[in-house]
Amino acid sequence: RAKNDTRGTFSFFETGMDAQAQARRKIENDLRAAIQDDQLRPYYQPLIDLKTGRITGCEALVRWPHPERGMISPGDFIPVAEDTGLINVLGTQILRRACNDAARWPDEVRVAVNLSPLQFRVGNLLSVVMDALKSSGLPPRRLELEITETLLLEKSNQVLATLHALRALGVRISMDDFGTGYSSLSYLRSFPFDKIKIDQSFVRDLGANRDAQAIVSSIINLGMGLGVTITAEGVETEAELACLRSEGCHEGQGFLFSRARPNDEIAELLRAQANVTLGSEASAQAQV
Ligand code: C2E
Ligand code: MG
Ligand code: MG
Ligand code: MG
Repeated sequence: RAKNDTRGTFSFFETGMDAQAQARRKIENDLRAAIQDDQLRPYYQPLIDLKTGRITGCEALVRWPHPERGMISPGDFIPVAEDTGLINVLGTQILRRACNDAARWPDEVRVAVNLSPLQFRVGNLLSVVMDALKSSGLPPRRLELEITETLLLEKSNQVLATLHALRALGVRISMDDFGTGYSSLSYLRSFPFDKIKIDQSFVRDLGANRDAQAIVSSIINLGMGLGVTITAEGVETEAELACLRSEGCHEGQGFLFSRARPNDEIAELLRAQANVTLGSEASAQAQV
Protein backbone atom coordinates (compact mmCIF):
# COMPACT_ATOMS: atom_id res chain seq x y z
CA ARG A 1 0.00 0.00 0.00
CA ALA A 2 1.34 3.40 -0.97
CA LYS A 3 0.83 4.80 2.53
CA ASN A 4 3.22 2.27 4.09
CA ASP A 5 5.81 2.52 1.37
CA THR A 6 9.03 4.44 1.71
CA ARG A 7 8.89 8.04 0.70
CA GLY A 8 10.98 7.39 -2.38
CA THR A 9 8.66 4.69 -3.71
CA PHE A 10 5.64 6.83 -2.99
CA SER A 11 6.88 9.81 -4.98
CA PHE A 12 7.97 7.47 -7.77
CA PHE A 13 4.44 6.13 -7.84
CA GLU A 14 3.03 9.66 -7.95
CA THR A 15 5.30 10.61 -10.84
CA GLY A 16 4.18 7.50 -12.72
CA MET A 17 0.54 8.41 -12.30
CA ASP A 18 1.29 11.95 -13.34
CA ALA A 19 2.93 10.86 -16.59
CA GLN A 20 -0.01 8.60 -17.29
CA ALA A 21 -2.52 11.34 -16.63
CA GLN A 22 -0.52 13.71 -18.83
CA ALA A 23 -0.39 11.23 -21.69
CA ARG A 24 -4.11 10.75 -21.43
CA ARG A 25 -4.75 14.48 -21.38
CA LYS A 26 -2.67 14.80 -24.55
CA ILE A 27 -4.72 12.09 -26.29
CA GLU A 28 -7.87 13.84 -25.17
CA ASN A 29 -6.74 17.23 -26.51
CA ASP A 30 -5.44 15.75 -29.76
CA LEU A 31 -8.67 13.81 -30.20
CA ARG A 32 -10.78 16.90 -29.62
CA ALA A 33 -8.74 18.75 -32.28
CA ALA A 34 -8.95 15.81 -34.69
CA ILE A 35 -12.74 15.70 -34.35
CA GLN A 36 -12.94 19.47 -34.76
CA ASP A 37 -10.84 19.26 -37.95
CA ASP A 38 -12.89 16.28 -39.17
CA GLN A 39 -9.81 14.05 -39.41
CA LEU A 40 -11.31 10.75 -38.31
CA ARG A 41 -12.24 8.32 -41.06
CA PRO A 42 -14.18 5.09 -41.24
CA TYR A 43 -12.28 2.22 -42.82
CA TYR A 44 -14.45 -0.59 -44.12
CA GLN A 45 -14.18 -4.34 -43.55
CA PRO A 46 -16.22 -6.61 -45.87
CA LEU A 47 -18.83 -9.08 -44.57
CA ILE A 48 -18.94 -12.15 -46.79
CA ASP A 49 -21.91 -14.39 -47.59
CA LEU A 50 -20.42 -17.82 -46.90
CA LYS A 51 -22.65 -19.53 -49.48
CA THR A 52 -21.97 -17.25 -52.43
CA GLY A 53 -18.66 -15.66 -51.43
CA ARG A 54 -20.09 -12.23 -52.19
CA ILE A 55 -19.74 -9.09 -50.09
CA THR A 56 -23.12 -8.36 -48.50
CA GLY A 57 -21.96 -5.35 -46.52
CA CYS A 58 -19.03 -3.58 -44.91
CA GLU A 59 -18.45 -2.58 -41.30
CA ALA A 60 -17.28 0.97 -40.67
CA LEU A 61 -14.33 0.95 -38.25
CA VAL A 62 -13.04 4.36 -37.22
CA ARG A 63 -9.36 5.23 -37.80
CA TRP A 64 -7.43 8.24 -36.59
CA PRO A 65 -4.46 9.36 -38.68
CA HIS A 66 -2.39 11.06 -35.96
CA PRO A 67 0.29 13.51 -37.18
CA GLU A 68 2.97 12.13 -34.80
CA ARG A 69 1.82 8.63 -33.92
CA GLY A 70 0.56 7.38 -37.28
CA MET A 71 -2.71 5.51 -37.64
CA ILE A 72 -4.37 4.94 -34.27
CA SER A 73 -6.86 2.10 -33.72
CA PRO A 74 -10.19 2.62 -31.96
CA GLY A 75 -9.15 0.50 -28.96
CA ASP A 76 -6.73 3.30 -28.06
CA PHE A 77 -9.14 6.22 -28.26
CA ILE A 78 -12.78 5.06 -28.10
CA PRO A 79 -12.49 4.64 -24.29
CA VAL A 80 -11.15 8.22 -24.05
CA ALA A 81 -13.95 9.43 -26.31
CA GLU A 82 -16.48 7.69 -24.07
CA ASP A 83 -15.02 9.09 -20.84
CA THR A 84 -15.03 12.63 -22.19
CA GLY A 85 -18.35 12.60 -24.03
CA LEU A 86 -16.54 13.18 -27.35
CA ILE A 87 -18.04 9.87 -28.52
CA ASN A 88 -21.28 11.61 -29.47
CA VAL A 89 -19.74 13.99 -31.99
CA LEU A 90 -17.34 11.27 -33.16
CA GLY A 91 -20.21 8.81 -33.56
CA THR A 92 -22.29 11.26 -35.56
CA GLN A 93 -19.35 12.10 -37.85
CA ILE A 94 -18.61 8.43 -38.56
CA LEU A 95 -22.29 7.61 -39.12
CA ARG A 96 -22.70 10.48 -41.59
CA ARG A 97 -19.53 9.56 -43.47
CA ALA A 98 -20.46 5.89 -43.58
CA CYS A 99 -23.91 6.70 -45.00
CA ASN A 100 -22.41 9.08 -47.58
CA ASP A 101 -19.79 6.53 -48.66
CA ALA A 102 -22.25 3.63 -48.79
CA ALA A 103 -24.76 5.63 -50.82
CA ARG A 104 -22.18 5.41 -53.66
CA TRP A 105 -21.66 1.64 -53.35
CA PRO A 106 -23.72 -0.91 -55.29
CA ASP A 107 -27.31 -0.98 -54.06
CA GLU A 108 -27.19 -4.52 -52.63
CA VAL A 109 -24.28 -3.73 -50.28
CA ARG A 110 -25.08 -2.58 -46.73
CA VAL A 111 -22.99 -0.58 -44.29
CA ALA A 112 -22.70 -1.47 -40.59
CA VAL A 113 -21.93 1.22 -38.01
CA ASN A 114 -20.98 0.66 -34.36
CA LEU A 115 -22.87 2.62 -31.72
CA SER A 116 -21.69 3.40 -28.20
CA PRO A 117 -24.28 3.07 -25.40
CA LEU A 118 -23.64 6.74 -24.65
CA GLN A 119 -25.12 7.72 -28.02
CA PHE A 120 -28.44 6.36 -26.78
CA ARG A 121 -28.27 8.43 -23.61
CA VAL A 122 -28.22 11.82 -25.30
CA GLY A 123 -31.77 11.32 -26.50
CA ASN A 124 -31.43 12.49 -30.12
CA LEU A 125 -30.05 9.32 -31.73
CA LEU A 126 -33.16 8.69 -33.79
CA SER A 127 -33.01 12.13 -35.41
CA VAL A 128 -29.22 11.83 -35.88
CA VAL A 129 -29.78 8.58 -37.82
CA MET A 130 -32.70 10.00 -39.80
CA ASP A 131 -30.62 13.06 -40.74
CA ALA A 132 -27.69 10.88 -41.86
CA LEU A 133 -30.00 8.78 -44.03
CA LYS A 134 -31.80 11.76 -45.49
CA SER A 135 -28.74 13.86 -46.33
CA SER A 136 -26.90 10.87 -47.86
CA GLY A 137 -29.89 9.39 -49.66
CA LEU A 138 -28.98 5.94 -48.30
CA PRO A 139 -32.10 3.75 -48.04
CA PRO A 140 -32.66 2.67 -44.39
CA ARG A 141 -32.57 -1.04 -45.38
CA ARG A 142 -28.90 -0.56 -46.31
CA LEU A 143 -27.90 0.59 -42.80
CA GLU A 144 -27.07 -1.79 -39.98
CA LEU A 145 -26.41 -0.53 -36.47
CA GLU A 146 -24.23 -2.66 -34.19
CA ILE A 147 -24.84 -2.53 -30.46
CA THR A 148 -23.36 -4.52 -27.59
CA GLU A 149 -24.95 -6.14 -24.60
CA THR A 150 -23.83 -3.38 -22.25
CA LEU A 151 -26.47 -1.17 -23.86
CA LEU A 152 -29.22 -3.51 -22.69
CA LEU A 153 -27.77 -4.02 -19.20
CA GLU A 154 -29.77 -1.15 -17.75
CA LYS A 155 -33.05 -2.44 -19.15
CA SER A 156 -33.95 1.13 -20.05
CA ASN A 157 -37.34 1.72 -21.69
CA GLN A 158 -35.90 4.71 -23.51
CA VAL A 159 -33.20 2.53 -25.08
CA LEU A 160 -35.73 -0.11 -26.16
CA ALA A 161 -38.07 2.54 -27.57
CA THR A 162 -35.21 4.03 -29.61
CA LEU A 163 -34.21 0.58 -30.92
CA HIS A 164 -37.79 -0.15 -31.95
CA ALA A 165 -38.12 3.25 -33.63
CA LEU A 166 -34.87 2.68 -35.57
CA ARG A 167 -36.08 -0.73 -36.67
CA ALA A 168 -39.42 0.74 -37.72
CA LEU A 169 -37.48 3.04 -40.08
CA GLY A 170 -36.19 -0.12 -41.79
CA VAL A 171 -32.71 0.03 -40.25
CA ARG A 172 -31.29 -3.34 -39.16
CA ILE A 173 -30.02 -3.91 -35.62
CA SER A 174 -27.12 -6.29 -34.92
CA MET A 175 -25.85 -7.64 -31.62
CA ASP A 176 -22.06 -7.32 -31.69
CA ASP A 177 -19.52 -9.44 -29.79
CA PHE A 178 -22.17 -12.02 -28.94
CA GLY A 179 -21.30 -14.33 -26.08
CA THR A 180 -18.87 -12.07 -24.26
CA GLY A 181 -21.38 -10.46 -21.89
CA TYR A 182 -22.76 -11.85 -18.67
CA SER A 183 -26.21 -12.95 -19.84
CA SER A 184 -26.23 -12.81 -23.60
CA LEU A 185 -29.21 -15.11 -23.94
CA SER A 186 -31.63 -13.02 -21.94
CA TYR A 187 -30.97 -10.01 -24.18
CA LEU A 188 -32.19 -11.93 -27.19
CA ARG A 189 -35.64 -11.94 -25.59
CA SER A 190 -35.69 -8.23 -24.89
CA PHE A 191 -35.31 -7.12 -28.52
CA PRO A 192 -35.83 -8.67 -31.99
CA PHE A 193 -32.32 -8.40 -33.44
CA ASP A 194 -31.76 -8.84 -37.18
CA LYS A 195 -28.24 -10.20 -36.80
CA ILE A 196 -25.98 -11.80 -34.21
CA LYS A 197 -22.22 -11.46 -34.56
CA ILE A 198 -20.31 -14.29 -32.88
CA ASP A 199 -17.40 -12.77 -31.01
CA GLN A 200 -14.01 -13.52 -32.50
CA SER A 201 -12.77 -15.13 -29.28
CA PHE A 202 -15.02 -18.14 -30.07
CA VAL A 203 -13.97 -18.27 -33.71
CA ARG A 204 -10.26 -18.16 -32.80
CA ASP A 205 -9.93 -21.81 -31.71
CA LEU A 206 -12.38 -23.34 -34.14
CA GLY A 207 -10.06 -25.62 -36.11
CA ALA A 208 -8.46 -27.11 -33.01
CA ASN A 209 -10.74 -26.87 -30.00
CA ARG A 210 -13.87 -29.01 -29.64
CA ASP A 211 -15.39 -26.79 -26.94
CA ALA A 212 -15.14 -23.77 -29.21
CA GLN A 213 -16.79 -25.81 -31.96
CA ALA A 214 -19.66 -26.79 -29.70
CA ILE A 215 -20.22 -23.18 -28.62
CA VAL A 216 -20.12 -21.77 -32.15
CA SER A 217 -22.38 -24.54 -33.42
CA SER A 218 -24.90 -23.79 -30.64
CA ILE A 219 -24.92 -20.07 -31.40
CA ILE A 220 -25.52 -20.79 -35.09
CA ASN A 221 -28.42 -23.12 -34.28
CA LEU A 222 -29.81 -20.57 -31.85
CA GLY A 223 -29.69 -17.90 -34.54
CA MET A 224 -31.40 -20.16 -37.04
CA GLY A 225 -34.15 -20.91 -34.53
CA LEU A 226 -34.65 -17.18 -34.01
CA GLY A 227 -34.55 -16.51 -37.74
CA VAL A 228 -31.67 -14.03 -37.53
CA THR A 229 -28.53 -13.74 -39.65
CA ILE A 230 -25.42 -15.18 -38.00
CA THR A 231 -22.06 -13.55 -38.72
CA ALA A 232 -18.75 -14.91 -37.49
CA GLU A 233 -16.20 -12.23 -36.59
CA GLY A 234 -12.44 -12.58 -36.82
CA VAL A 235 -12.21 -15.38 -39.41
CA GLU A 236 -8.48 -15.79 -40.02
CA THR A 237 -7.91 -19.33 -41.32
CA GLU A 238 -9.25 -21.72 -43.92
CA ALA A 239 -9.89 -24.24 -41.12
CA GLU A 240 -12.14 -21.77 -39.31
CA LEU A 241 -13.94 -20.95 -42.54
CA ALA A 242 -14.50 -24.64 -43.38
CA CYS A 243 -15.91 -25.28 -39.94
CA LEU A 244 -18.24 -22.26 -40.09
CA ARG A 245 -19.46 -23.30 -43.53
CA SER A 246 -20.18 -26.85 -42.44
CA GLU A 247 -22.21 -25.52 -39.49
CA GLY A 248 -24.26 -23.36 -41.86
CA CYS A 249 -23.05 -19.98 -40.61
CA HIS A 250 -24.44 -17.28 -42.92
CA GLU A 251 -21.70 -14.66 -42.97
CA GLY A 252 -18.04 -14.24 -42.14
CA GLN A 253 -15.79 -11.27 -41.48
CA GLY A 254 -12.08 -11.38 -40.84
CA PHE A 255 -8.51 -11.03 -42.04
CA LEU A 256 -8.89 -14.19 -44.19
CA PHE A 257 -11.15 -12.16 -46.47
CA SER A 258 -9.91 -8.63 -45.91
CA ARG A 259 -8.82 -6.15 -43.29
CA ALA A 260 -10.60 -2.83 -42.96
CA ARG A 261 -9.61 -0.59 -45.88
CA PRO A 262 -10.13 3.04 -46.88
CA ASN A 263 -13.29 3.87 -48.81
CA ASP A 264 -11.63 4.33 -52.21
CA GLU A 265 -10.20 0.78 -52.07
CA ILE A 266 -13.49 -0.68 -50.87
CA ALA A 267 -15.50 1.13 -53.53
CA GLU A 268 -13.17 -0.29 -56.17
CA LEU A 269 -13.41 -3.78 -54.71
CA LEU A 270 -17.21 -3.56 -54.74
CA ARG A 271 -17.23 -2.40 -58.35
CA ALA A 272 -15.05 -5.37 -59.26
CA GLN A 273 -17.16 -7.78 -57.24
CA ALA A 274 -18.71 -9.24 -60.37
CA ASN A 275 -15.28 -10.63 -61.29
CA VAL A 276 -13.96 -11.45 -57.83
CA THR A 277 -15.21 -14.09 -55.46
CA LEU A 278 -14.03 -13.81 -51.89
CA GLY A 279 -13.90 -17.15 -50.10
CA SER A 280 -11.78 -20.24 -49.82
CA GLU A 281 -10.88 -20.46 -53.51
CA ALA A 282 -9.97 -16.82 -53.91
CA SER A 283 -9.00 -15.74 -50.42
CA ALA A 284 -5.34 -15.34 -51.37
CA GLN A 285 -6.14 -12.75 -54.02
CA ALA A 286 -8.71 -11.12 -51.78
CA GLN A 287 -6.25 -10.29 -49.04
CA VAL A 288 -4.76 -6.84 -48.77
P1 C2E B 1 -15.92 -4.60 -33.33
O1 C2E B 1 -17.10 -3.79 -33.68
O2 C2E B 1 -16.17 -5.94 -32.74
O3 C2E B 1 -15.05 -4.69 -34.67
C1 C2E B 1 -14.28 -5.79 -35.04
C2 C2E B 1 -12.82 -5.59 -34.70
O4 C2E B 1 -12.11 -6.80 -34.99
C3 C2E B 1 -12.12 -4.53 -35.54
O5 C2E B 1 -11.10 -3.95 -34.76
C4 C2E B 1 -11.51 -5.34 -36.67
O6 C2E B 1 -10.42 -4.70 -37.30
C5 C2E B 1 -11.07 -6.55 -35.89
N1 C2E B 1 -10.93 -7.71 -36.75
C6 C2E B 1 -11.63 -8.00 -37.87
N2 C2E B 1 -11.25 -9.18 -38.39
C7 C2E B 1 -10.30 -9.66 -37.59
C8 C2E B 1 -9.50 -10.85 -37.63
O7 C2E B 1 -9.61 -11.71 -38.48
N3 C2E B 1 -8.60 -11.01 -36.60
C9 C2E B 1 -8.44 -10.09 -35.63
N4 C2E B 1 -7.53 -10.32 -34.68
N5 C2E B 1 -9.18 -8.95 -35.57
C10 C2E B 1 -10.09 -8.74 -36.55
P2 C2E B 1 -10.91 -2.36 -34.63
O8 C2E B 1 -11.12 -1.72 -35.97
O9 C2E B 1 -9.62 -2.14 -33.93
O10 C2E B 1 -12.10 -1.92 -33.70
C11 C2E B 1 -12.17 -2.35 -32.37
C12 C2E B 1 -13.49 -1.98 -31.73
O11 C2E B 1 -13.63 -0.56 -31.62
C13 C2E B 1 -14.71 -2.44 -32.53
O12 C2E B 1 -14.96 -3.81 -32.29
C14 C2E B 1 -15.77 -1.52 -31.97
O13 C2E B 1 -16.26 -2.02 -30.75
C15 C2E B 1 -14.99 -0.25 -31.69
N6 C2E B 1 -15.25 0.71 -32.79
C16 C2E B 1 -14.67 0.81 -34.01
N7 C2E B 1 -15.18 1.84 -34.72
C17 C2E B 1 -16.13 2.40 -33.93
C18 C2E B 1 -17.03 3.52 -34.09
O14 C2E B 1 -17.10 4.19 -35.14
N8 C2E B 1 -17.85 3.81 -33.03
C19 C2E B 1 -17.82 3.08 -31.87
N9 C2E B 1 -18.66 3.43 -30.86
N10 C2E B 1 -17.00 2.03 -31.69
C20 C2E B 1 -16.16 1.69 -32.70
MG1 MG C 1 -18.79 -4.08 -34.62
MG1 MG D 1 -17.43 -7.37 -32.72
MG1 MG E 1 -15.38 -6.01 -30.48
